[in-house]
Parts: sequence; structure tokens; C-alpha cells
Amino acid sequence: MSKPPETFYPGPSRNHLAAFPPKERWNNWTEIDSQAWPRRKERHYSLVPTTCFNCESACGLLAYIDKVTGEVQKFEGNPEHPGSRGRNCAKGPATLNQIQDPDRILYPLKRTGKRGAGQWERTTWDAALDDIAGRIRKAIVEDRRNEIMYHVGRPGEDGFTERILAAWGVDGHNSHTNICSSGSREGYQLWMGLDRPSPDHANAKVILLISAHLESGHYFNPHAQRVIEGKANGAKLIVFDTRLSHTATHADYWVAPYPGSEAAMVLAIANYLIQNNLYNREFVRQWWNWEEFLQAGVKAKGEGETNETSQVGKGGLPPPTFEQFEGQLKQLYADYTFDFAAQESGVDAKTIEEIAKLIATAGTRFSSHNWRSVTSGVSGGWTVARAVFMLNALLGAIATEGGVFPNAWNKFVPKPIYTPPHPRMWNETQWPREYPLSMHEMSFLLPHFLRERRAKLDVYFTRVYNPVWTNPDGFSWIEMLTDPDLVGCYVALTPTWNETSYFADYVLPMGHGSERHDIHSYETHDAQWLGFRQPVKKADRQREGETIADTREVNPGEVWEENEFWMELTWRIDRDGSLGIRQFVESKKQPGTRLGIDEYYEWIFDNSVPGLPEKAAAEDLTPLQFMRRYGAVEVKQKVGKIYDEAVGEAELEDIREDALGRVFTRAAKPASSNVVPIPSPDGDDDGRRLVGVRVGDEIRRGFPTPSGKLEFYSRTISDWGWPEYALPTYIKSHVHPDNLEEDQTILISTFRLPVQIHTRSANAKWLDEIAHTNPLWIHTNHAAKLGVRTGDLLRVETEIGYYVVPAWVTEGIRPGIVACSHHMGRWKLSEQGQRQLMATVKLDHEGTEWGLKREKGAEPYESSDPDTLRIWWNDVGVHQNMTFPVHPDPISGMHCWHQAVRVRVADEGDNPGDVFVDTAKSREVYKKWLAMTRPADKYSPGGTRRPYWMLRPLKPAREFYNLQPQGNNK
Ligand code: SF4
Repeated sequence: MSKPPETFYPGPSRNHLAAFPPKERWNNWTEIDSQAWPRRKERHYSLVPTTCFNCESACGLLAYIDKVTGEVQKFEGNPEHPGSRGRNCAKGPATLNQIQDPDRILYPLKRTGKRGAGQWERTTWDAALDDIAGRIRKAIVEDRRNEIMYHVGRPGEDGFTERILAAWGVDGHNSHTNICSSGSREGYQLWMGLDRPSPDHANAKVILLISAHLESGHYFNPHAQRVIEGKANGAKLIVFDTRLSHTATHADYWVAPYPGSEAAMVLAIANYLIQNNLYNREFVRQWWNWEEFLQAGVKAKGEGETNETSQVGKGGLPPPTFEQFEGQLKQLYADYTFDFAAQESGVDAKTIEEIAKLIATAGTRFSSHNWRSVTSGVSGGWTVARAVFMLNALLGAIATEGGVFPNAWNKFVPKPIYTPPHPRMWNETQWPREYPLSMHEMSFLLPHFLRERRAKLDVYFTRVYNPVWTNPDGFSWIEMLTDPDLVGCYVALTPTWNETSYFADYVLPMGHGSERHDIHSYETHDAQWLGFRQPVKKADRQREGETIADTREVNPGEVWEENEFWMELTWRIDRDGSLGIRQFVESKKQPGTRLGIDEYYEWIFDNSVPGLPEKAAAEDLTPLQFMRRYGAVEVKQKVGKIYDEAVGEAELEDIREDALGRVFTRAAKPASSNVVPIPSPDGDDDGRRLVGVRVGDEIRRGFPTPSGKLEFYSRTISDWGWPEYALPTYIKSHVHPDNLEEDQTILISTFRLPVQIHTRSANAKWLDEIAHTNPLWIHTNHAAKLGVRTGDLLRVETEIGYYVVPAWVTEGIRPGIVACSHHMGRWKLSEQGQRQLMATVKLDHEGTEWGLKREKGAEPYESSDPDTLRIWWNDVGVHQNMTFPVHPDPISGMHCWHQAVRVRVADEGDNPGDVFVDTAKSREVYKKWLAMTRPADKYSPGGTRRPYWMLRPLKPAREFYNLQPQGNNK
């Protein structure tokens, strides 16, 4: 008998249909109630899409809403989502735990006692909004706009709140990025002008990962499934990780280098390609800025060497040739031998050579990714991302099938209904002149800056962010937040209690992923898509014909969604429109009234998403109804080599070409420019904009770098005071053996647990049962030397204090290095909090000395969820980040997380979870690192605070880049 033909889901997932309910039946889907077994009881569901909010990937979810109760029964994957294709990690379905969390915050709260005393009263949204809006209005009117700051952890929608701040005229966007991924971003941006890679893992021949991508990496599930697809198609996987991660267990080559040596290894691979002429010569000739490099006369080979100036191409000499460049390239990298890499990394030279030979076979099908990991761990970590991308640039594996795309080309950002102008100010508290090349705001230095009285804050928002727990040096944050002279009013926007919100003046309850709106798009593969997060109960009731004006009508308690909150707050700041702010949240349909959330998205979907109106019309739906029905739309399937596209005649008007072949035009940007790369925002002095770069006889789109090419040589780095790092190089980090004392070792403190989220998963019971503690990984030999076994207590001593943690003895880490996940050690000061994963602690404080002592771990408790009586775990780990001082990399601004520590057997009387810190020492370390910077005052080549071409959230108006501008420059 012949097998019936396989049936595949017709949407973007292309998975076997048996895995998903067909979309035609999403209005009434029937399942058998497992709990009624052995009776056969049918339950009927509306299936409503949304997107997960539990990491940055924004995978599609389908909420199963019971038609009788109106409640969500479960979340599964949305097969209509082109990024996640119906699949999720454990954190996606656990959204159900979050919305059913018996300890969640349901009503707006206002502090009554002292900050941190845990005394609150319920307040109304109206009262809170009026108070906060009044303060903000006053600060704006009194020209104290630098006292308003919004500090975001997990962004929901690309740019939404940045536009709100721009509407207020406030340069007050602060992010968590410099404790997360700035190191990688810096390395990528220097090469291609865009700060993230979009690897096409599924079509690669060889995949190199310097991160734990299969379990917790960037765009985790969408990328992980494509890495596995690539492997299934025969790709070889190489993983560099000091720790045997789950990702490493899937590798064909796993190497465990000394932390911080990765750039040396990667450059040795690059050197192998260079010396053996195994690079893509034509690609390098066309797309690297080698002419600029030769003209600059750089001969730097690495750290510590002086630059010399050659006369290539100067003073009437013949123009530089590519062959000259190739000769220099060979010289420049000749010292990066496999033996040198082996000496730095501790990895056998033969193994590195084998890896190099394998990579050489990949050609343009070489995909790579380096995110967080070492780039967030060590000083100079950004050079690792730069070195990794150099391999792609050598092989020409950029924007090719199986290669790596610049992120913005695989991402779709629609035009919003309003675009307020750039703020006319510069906030030095976030963008200080000491860090002109930092990738993001110097957010984790805030307590030190305020203490130095650089500024004070009148209104400080945190939004899904928990700096006391997440950032290094958390006690300095407590010192800042408890000082009303430094922070006038602190507003915590959060779905759950956290360590920082205890010190707030207002705690305002925000929705989880299935209770709010956002749109987003990420670089998951060579395509462009747009996802729609929505409050599923609202969408369900609208499907049934109800009118829902405000998400509070469907959310539990008075939980709100942020976009409505921000629009309402903005409206109240400028009710009469006299400040020019109100216009950005005003309805176009009914002028004089506030913009509603449906109109906001309706406008975007009607006007800014190519192809969506047609797709919707084909199903007799409006674009908004289509997005509410399916939760995502594919905008483009293959984007390809945008850099290589010829610039059309229509864009070439009164052009001027400079010595590097960059072409400037007077033609306006085409309306569709939001789906193509934006060349460098630099224009010429005569008002033209950069449109492309000459390659041979043609003007091509190029890359959004100052040269329009891939920048092997960074004039920016050189001009801003760091000429020794103008080329991809290796820097001996702050934890290099040369910089450690004899009894010190390295602590890797950055790794994620695949099933936890920084803060919001503390009451996700399914996840907590899987992972709830963070012992110290220590190698068998190391443990034997200390005489400890698994479970024995260790003290880990940092520069500013110590913590106490049980040992986990393993062969899965490089001998001599220790590691501890940062996902655990949550704490609360009273019963108020998430009781499934937060210990109750006593906070001791005398002068600058602070301590945490665990009074009680997790234990069973009665609640609306009977499962809370079944909690069997007690240990919830230790909060190690508090014992880390700030380590801002002087170039990228990234906090360098790896710590030089002493590990010893705990003292008698030490208990698991104990933490001690002296914040006076924190300040000493802060000053030591600050002294390493090369500030704009002294090094800016043109009197600006920062290169204008570099990415920056919420760019101020251009004149405010000047160190001495006219007007307000606070
Ligand atoms: S990878 Fe997991 S946590 Fe992240 S969005 Fe997807 S399902 Fe959610």
C-alpha cells in the first residue's frame, strides 16, 4: 500500500501539518479535555496569535482561549510566524505561568514609608498619571529636561518610547545594552556600519559560534532551529566556549579557550587564509577600504606598536595598488601563528589549524555569530566580534546564501504614524564625553555619575528593568535610589516585583507578552518579517464583535499596557497642546482627542507595510484584522546583496564623488528607504547625502560606513585617539594572565540558563522546577586542590567584596576557570515578591559596607495556584552581580563582566547566598577604569562629542553633537 502524501503547513513554518491546527479553524478549534479522561469531553478554543516577550527573539505564540471561560488555557507556537515557524523554547509556553502568577502586581501602588521600607498604598492610574505628568511638564518648562530619564531592560516595540521621548524633546533614553551586547555591536559596526550579524545558518557549510547559541543565544530559538537545520544538511559546527554549554555538546569542534584569548585564535585562522591566498580576492579588492588604509599609511600590527606613516599614494606618487595592500596584509598578520594562538588560548595549535582548514573550505557558505560571551566579558572584547567578521569579510561570505547579512537588511521597520523631531539637547549623564565611541548609554555608571553630582534626576522610569539585581555594583544603585537628592521620583513600570522596584515611589503594573501591543522584526534569516504582539483576550473579544477601548478592560486587576500608558502620559503632560507635545499622540481621525491604540496600528498596517493590504484584502480583512488574525506577515523572502545593488538613475542628481569613490547626491531618499540600508548619514558640506560608492564603472549601494565599504581600517578609531586599534587586532584583556595575581583566577559570570529570564520568570513554576539555583562550576582538578566536593561552600572574593556559593565539581569547564550563571540569586526584603524563586534576605548596612544574609529560601505556600504547595526546592542561588565593580571598556563602553577572583573554602559561619560589598571600593574601581578613557574633549577630531555616523538611540539634533553648541546642551 502506498504511503499517503505528506502534508505541510502552507504558512511560513512549512512544518508537518499534524503539528499545527490549520488556520481556517482558528476561530473554533476543538480539543479533548485531558483532565476529564476517561470521559471524552470536548473543549472549544479561539486561537489568537501574539508574540513571546521572554527574550529578544519575539517568537510567535498562539493563545488557546477557552470559548466558555474566556481564559487562556495554554500557549503553543504560531506556525504563521516566519521567524520562529511554530516553535518555541520552554519560556514561550511558560507565559501562562506568568499571567497566572499568584504574586503578580495587579494595581498601581504608591510608596507611603521611606524608600525601601516596603510600605505601599493602592492608588489610581489617574492620580499616578497626573502626578508624574505634572513633574515632567514642570521639568520641561523649567528647562530641566536632563532630569527626566527612561531606563529600559527588555524593549517591547522598536523605537516606540524613543519617539515618545523625542515628542517631549528629551534625550532621556537609557538602555541596558552596555551590560549586555555593546561589545559585539562595536566590533560589527566598525566593519559594516550596522551592529548585528544576521547569519544564514540553515544554508551554511561551516558554522562558527562564539556563544551558547543553541540554548540561549541572540534570537535564540529562531537561530537555534536554523543551526540544527544547517547541521542536518551537513554543516560542520565549531563552538568556542570555555564552558561545556549545551551548544558545545552539539559541536563537531568544541574548544575551551582561556577567556579573552578568542581574538588571537580567530586572527590566527585569518592569517592562515591570508598567507595561503585562501581568501576571496575579488571580494576583498572590491569591498574592503584598502585604498583608504594605504592612503592613511598605517603600519600598526597590534597592541603597543607605534604607527608609522608611509607615503603610499601621497605627494604625487602612483596611486596605491591592491597588490601592495595584499603584501601589507600578509605582513600585518604574520605573527598570528597557530603557535601564538595556542600560547594565548591554551588550545592545541593542531586543533586551531584543523579548524582553520575547515573554515577555508566553506567559501561564501560560512556563517558565524559572536554575541555576549567573551565580547561582554573582557576589556577589548569588541575585538573578538571584529576578528570573527573579518573571516566572513575574507571569504566574501557576506549577504550570501549560507553567509552573514548585516542585521538591518533582514529586519523590517515600518514608518510610524508620527515621527517627532530629534531632541534639541544632549544628555551627558548617558553619553558622557569620556566615552565618545561607546555603543550605547553608559547606563551602569549612573550611580557614580549622580554621586559626583554630574546631574540629578527628577523623574526616573525603569521599564522591565531591574538594575539593583541585573547590573554590577547593585549596592551603589541602592545608595542612589534611597537618596531623594539624587532621584526625585522613581517610577517602576513592571509586571512583577523585583529588587529595584522595592525602592520606587510608584510601582505601576504592566502587562506580560499576551497582555500588550508591540510590533517588531528581527534578523532571524535572509528575509524580512513583521510580528505583532497583542493582548489576546482583547483580540478574542473583538473577534466576537465587542468593542474594547483600553487593555485594562481585559487584563487582570488594573494591569495596563505600556503603549497606552505612554500615550496617555504624554497627553497629560501637554493637555492644551501649548508645549507642542500633544500633537504626537493626537488622533488623526478625530482631532482633539487622544490617539487610540487601534488607530495607531491601523495607520501603520494600512500605510507602511508593503504587501500587507493586498494580503489582507485577499482574505476580505483589513490589514489590522489580518495582523490580529495571524500575528505576523512576511514582507520579503530573500533580501540578498543589497550592498551590491546599483544605485538607480533617479537617485543620482547633481552628484559629487570624493577621493574614496563615495558618491553624494541631491536626490531625496526614496519613499521605500525603510526597507533598504541607509548609507552613512554623513552628507557632504554642500547639502548632498551619501547615496553609494563607486565600484568599477558602477555606483553601488555599499555599506553604511564612513567609506561606504567594509572597514578593515577604521579611520574613526584612529582619529578618535586609538590609532593602535585601527585594524582588527587582539588586545590582552583585564583578565589576561599578565594582569592576574598568582592566587587569582577568572570567574565567568555571564552565562544564561536556557529556561530562565532575568527577572520576570521568578514565578514561572514550570521553569523554576527545571532550574532554580546557580552553583559555582569548578573543574575536578581545581576542586581537588581546594579539597572541596560538590555541595561544599566556597567564598568567591572580588575586588569589592565576596559571595558564598556551593561548588559544582565538573569536567565541563577549562581547569582553573570558574563559572556561575547570573540568572539566579533573586531576593526580597519581605514576603512581598515572587515566592517561588526569591529568597527572603536581611539587608545590613553600615557606612559603605553592605551585606545580604538569606533568612529563608523558597518554600511551599498557599495561593490561588495549588501547585505552590508542591514547591520542593529551597535553594534559589546567590546574587553574584552585586559583588562586581563596574568595568567599562574605554572604547565600546561595555561592562566587562569577567572577574579576577580568589576562590577559597568558605569560613565557618558563612551561609549559601551571603553577599558582602564595600561601595567605597566600588568607587575606587570606577575611577581606575575612568582614567583609561580618551575623552572627546581631548581627542575629538572635529570638536564633536561622538562620530555622527555611529548608531545611537534617539539621536539629538546634529548641532548638539558639538562639544560647544548653542543653547541647552545638558
Ligand atoms: S526563544 Fe523562547 S523566550 Fe525567546 S521569544 Fe522565543 S519562545 Fe520566547
